Amino acid sequence: MDTLVESGREIPVSVKTDILVVGGGAAGLAAAVTAARHGCHVYLIEKYGFLGGTLTSVTLGSFCGIFTVTEDEIIPVVKGFQEELIECLKKYEGALPPNRWLKTASTPYDVSILKRVADELISEAGVRIAYHTQAVSIVMEGDQVNGVIVENKNGRSLIKAKVVIDASGDGDIAAMAGAPYQVGSNGITQFPSAMFRMANVNLEKMNELTRNDFQHYFQQAKDDGYDLPRLSSGIHITPLYGVVHLNVTKIAREDGKPINPLSAEDLTFAEIEGRRQVFLYEEILRRYVPGFERAKVVDIGSQIGIREARLIGGEYTLSKEDILSYKRFDDVIACSAWPLEIHGSDNKTTWVWLEPGKFYTIPYRCLIPRNISNVLTAGRNISTTHEAQASTRVSAVCMAVGQAAGSAAYLALGYQNKVRDIPIDHLQSLLKAQNAFLG
Ligand SMILES: Cc1cc2nc3c(=O)[nH]c(=O)nc-3n(C[C@H](O)[C@H](O)[C@H](O)COP(=O)(O)OP(=O)(O)OC[C@H]3O[C@@H](n4cnc5c(N)ncnc54)[C@H](O)[C@@H]3O)c2cc1C
Repeated sequence: MDTLVESGREIPVSVKTDILVVGGGAAGLAAAVTAARHGCHVYLIEKYGFLGGTLTSVTLGSFCGIFTVTEDEIIPVVKGFQEELIECLKKYEGALPPNRWLKTASTPYDVSILKRVADELISEAGVRIAYHTQAVSIVMEGDQVNGVIVENKNGRSLIKAKVVIDASGDGDIAAMAGAPYQVGSNGITQFPSAMFRMANVNLEKMNELTRNDFQHYFQQAKDDGYDLPRLSSGIHITPLYGVVHLNVTKIAREDGKPINPLSAEDLTFAEIEGRRQVFLYEEILRRYVPGFERAKVVDIGSQIGIREARLIGGEYTLSKEDILSYKRFDDVIACSAWPLEIHGSDNKTTWVWLEPGKFYTIPYRCLIPRNISNVLTAGRNISTTHEAQASTRVSAVCMAVGQAAGSAAYLALGYQNKVRDIPIDHLQSLLKAQNAFLG
């Protein structure tokens, strides 16, 4: 391929801030609101025109990771910002009570109301925000990221910040700053899905069906010659009557491998293949499944759902063994009870369950990328192994981690912006004061 050497150019400094949050998904939203509530200047950039990240751009059915479940009880192990967000959603009839399924429970929410509530929370906290703005490069001095270069309709400019929170989901900033990272396990990441909602569903009929019934109907369709990538179904009620959310597709490359989430060509292929599968499942559901006879697709996520991209190497890397042994870390900043939910190459989803009523902890060190002094990661790109990320990636856990990153970034301002130097007991007491659950 030919190359072009770009000539140097002068660009304006568009913003100077204490804390810059890159990405407004579950983690970035929680981080920005939390940091701003401590009274510092916070700027948030987001490449789309709304907040929520995967929750709104991919569209999901429900917040997962909030609860540990026993036979009689549904007990939250993520509270704080997540709990507050659900209360805000309820004001507009945008969330339902926890819904039990398999061996867990999750909280259904409405995607449009989440966008509205996120705007309100950001604005009330005094976060300055730029939508349609993408981080494309960084400026470093020693081991500090001094600023992030962004591009938007205004052109290219520099945002100067004392502390940066990388909540891009893909670890864009930490990777550009030279932190080590891995993409899945030897390049094999979780397979992505195109998510969608269907309306006109007869819920009375649908509610009589079990997960096994859906699997049976999908198997029947497969036996009749439909080429189905996945037989397991995540079909969830939503706050809108007659509308359900479907997590049923699975996208592989033509060679059978998962798509590379850092390749524009693979992402383009995944978008087109994802939409093809959405309408394939619409046809099958209408043809085979009681309650779906008149159902139609009403929306498809505006982007393919990427479960896993870069996992940034941090001061500690959370492992599957840590999760399954319920390890208690002294520097705990968040908890989770979500199973290891693995979307691998076969047509089933594999679940490795935690024992009823149990949860594990996530240490602060997973948020500190190696080799950089003033950057924190938050969300699905924190330092975990591929297996552990199959649990930590769900939205409630990302929110809890984001909340911790927001408070930690605020504290770092008092320690020459060095995120490693903050007293952990101070961070934990700030989080407890915000009703976060630390075990
Ligand atoms: C198909 C699928 C189904 C899932 N199902 C569920 C479920 O039912 N329940 C559940 O709780 N979780 C589910 N998850 C997991 C969960 O939703 C996500 O892992 C989690 O929400 C990630 O949050 P995040 O903030 O870390 O990252 P993201 O949601 O990825 O947010 C990152 C944000 O950063 C922005 N961004 C990225 N790069 C840049 C840049 N360079 N400059 C500016 N902005 C940038 C993005 O636009 C995005 O808004 C699912 C995930 C997938 C993919």
